[in-house]
Amino acid sequence: MRQVIIIGSGPAGFSAAIYAARANLKPLLIASTVEVGGELMNTTDVENFPGFPEGILGPDLMAKLQEQAEKFGTEVLYDDVTELHVDGPVKKVVLGSGAEHEASTIIYATGSAYRKLHIEGEERLSGYGVSWCATCDGFFFREKTIAVVGGGDSAMEEATFLTRFASKVYVIHRKDTLRASKIMQERAFANDKIEFIWNSEVVEVLGGESVKGVQLRSTVDGSLRELEIDGLFIAIGNDPRTHLVHEKLQLTDAGTIWVDGRSSRTSVPGIFAAGDVIDPTYRQAATAAGSGVVAALDAEHFLADLEDASVEEPAAVAAEVIVS
Ligand SMILES: Cc1cc2nc3c(=O)[nH]c(=O)nc-3n(C[C@H](O)[C@H](O)[C@H](O)COP(=O)(O)OP(=O)(O)OC[C@H]3O[C@@H](n4cnc5c(N)ncnc54)[C@H](O)[C@@H]3O)c2cc1C
Repeated sequence: MRQVIIIGSGPAGFSAAIYAARANLKPLLIASTVEVGGELMNTTDVENFPGFPEGILGPDLMAKLQEQAEKFGTEVLYDDVTELHVDGPVKKVVLGSGAEHEASTIIYATGSAYRKLHIEGEERLSGYGVSWCATCDGFFFREKTIAVVGGGDSAMEEATFLTRFASKVYVIHRKDTLRASKIMQERAFANDKIEFIWNSEVVEVLGGESVKGVQLRSTVDGSLRELEIDGLFIAIGNDPRTHLVHEKLQLTDAGTIWVDGRSSRTSVPGIFAAGDVIDPTYRQAATAAGSGVVAALDAEHFLADLEDASVEEPAAVAAEVIVS
C-alpha cells in the first residue's frame, strides 16, 4: 500500500508530488491519458508564473514540473482514475486499465474545465488568439480589438478587465439581456471601450496562424456576418472535475470540492484536494501550485499522526496489562 496517491498532472498535482517526494513519501501520480500536464498544455506563453522573467511555454513549464517531481522519486502513471473509494483507512483508486492501487491518503487535483464553444477554429487557435483567461492573456492584446463571448458575471468581469489593454472589446451574447449581476452590467455598460453585440452566436473562429475574426450567426433570423478581431475570450463558464467524488465528498455551491478553511482537508479524513478543483475564484497556475504544496504538507501531517497513533496504541495496551 502507498502512503500517497495524487490524481492529476497539472501544476497542483506536480507541486504536491514534489513536496511529497521530498518528504520521502514515494508518491504515485496518476497523470491521465488525455491531458497530461493539465490546462497549461493548451497555451503558448506563460508570462506570470514566478521565476521565469522571460516567460515560458505552457508545455515546457509542465515538463519542468514533471522532471522535478520525478527527480525526487515520484512515480508517474499515464492512466485515468475511473473509480475512487474514499471510505475507511485504506483508500483505493481504480484505473482505466483495470489496475487498482491503495493508499492511506489521496490528493485530488483534477482541475476544472473551461466550457468550450465546440466550433471550428476554437481548438486550433487556442493560445493563438483564443483564450479562456483574461488575467493570463489580456496583456498580449495591447491596443488590439478583441471579443468576449458570454453574458454572465465572469464575461462582464473579463470584458471590463480587458479594456485595460485592448483598444476595443466586443461582448457577444446570444440573447438581448444579460445574466450578469446588475452592478457588473452597469460597469460594463458605462465603459466606452465595450460594445455589445446582442442576439448573436459565434459559429467559427477565423484565421490561419492567429485569430483574424469570427463568423457570427444571428439568433433572431439566422443571418451570418463576419467580425474582424485579434482575439477571442470565451467566458461561458467552468466545470470543476468532480465527477469521481459526487456523493462522496462535500461540494460547495460553486461546484468545487469543499475544503476546511485554508487547508486542503476535504470532508473525508485522508482525502485532500488542491488546485482549480477547489478554487472558484483565482484559478491560476501559481495558485494551483501553492495549493498542491498545502495538500502535500497536510497529507504528510496526517500520515505522521497515523504513525504516532499506531506507536501509542501498543504502549497503551502494555500499560493496561501492567495495571491489571
Ligand atoms: C488556455 C489556457 C491558458 C492559461 N494560461 C495561464 C497563464 O498564462 N497563467 C496562469 O497562471 N494560468 C493560466 N491558465 C490557468 C491554469 O492553466 C490553471 O489555473 C491551472 O492549470 C490549474 O491547475 P490544476 O493542477 O488545478 O489543474 P489542471 O491544470 O486542469 O490539471 C488537472 C489534471 O488532472 C487530470 N485529470 C482529471 N481527471 C482525471 C482522472 N480521472 N484521472 C487522472 N487524471 C485526471 C487532467 O487530465 C489534468 O492533467 C490557463 C488556462 C487555460 C485553459
